[in-house]
Amino acid sequence: MANDVIEITRTGKNDRVRRLLRAELDGISARLHREAEVPIGGVDGGNFLDVAQGVEHQERERLIASRLMEQARRLRVALTRVSTGEYGVCSECGASIPPKRLLAVPDATTCVACQDRLERADASVRTRTNGGVDEEEM
Ligand SMILES: [Zn+2]
Repeated sequence: MANDVIEITRTGKNDRVRRLLRAELDGISARLHREAEVPIGGVDGGNFLDVAQGVEHQERERLIASRLMEQARRLRVALTRVSTGEYGVCSECGASIPPKRLLAVPDATTCVACQDRLERADASVRTRTNGGVDEEEM
């Protein structure tokens, strides 16, 4: 415990950030453990509706789990960036990310301008990929 105090005085702000990121990561890990422990039921037996609901439930759990894992991955990247001193610096343009943004998005690796640019590029790629294929409309 005494080491913690020394650590705080030595690293100051970065330690707070690290704690924040770790706390989020711990929360996600705990959730993932709980999700993993939920028994997979409803598929082997019962009526059709039970089966369908069971499958739907599993799909949803899988989606939640993959989102949590992605979030955990981003938080780990952020923690690494804290260690290397890159945290709070935009990975695209090298500008410092405003503290307000880091507070809202602790795992942000880009400034707002770059994030916008990346999201627009991402969206246009998605639109092109889906262009002409209307299978979702069926
Ligand atoms: Zn930037």
